Amino acid sequence: MSVRFVIDPIEFVNNASVHRDKIAMRELARLRDVLYSDEGALDYQIEGHVDLNGRPSLKLSIEGDVYLVCQRCLNSLARDVAIENYLYLARNSAELDRINEDNNIDAILAIPELDVVDLIEEELILSLPISPSHGDNQCSPYQSGLNKTSIDNRSQSANSFSALSVLKKTN
Ligand SMILES: [Zn+2]
Repeated sequence: MSVRFVIDPIEFVNNASVHRDKIAMRELARLRDVLYSDEGALDYQIEGHVDLNGRPSLKLSIEGDVYLVCQRCLNSLARDVAIENYLYLARNSAELDRINEDNNIDAILAIPELDVVDLIEEELILSLPISPSHGDNQCSPYQSGLNKTSIDNRSQSANSFSALSVLKKTN
């Protein structure tokens, strides 16, 4: 069962609406490839906001844990998520370009049916490291076994290399 939550962002801001909910990790299909496990859920809050210059934005907060794949040992790597971001609402693409020129501000198009779960997914993807890994010497013991294998392979190929150089010398 999908839990899409769709808003009209301008109306959401005009009503100073606030919506708080949980989203199951398994709902976030675009994240599946980078997750070790899709168990668990994230808490989020979306809030209509107008800044001092009268510009409308959505304040999005996301909190929870995600389980990524460590790129060193391929085991589970827990990571805290704590995102708080203002997404400014642009009424058209020209306005979007103009707002995006300011690098400190994120803007989105204020389409009349904005999928909040898509937004959460997008923010999460942007916040995650490209190549996550445990700290030095923090990969699991099972996996240091694998590392040993790769070291053995390396010394083996080093041996065949020196065997080759011996052959060359005899020629
Ligand atoms: Zn690791």
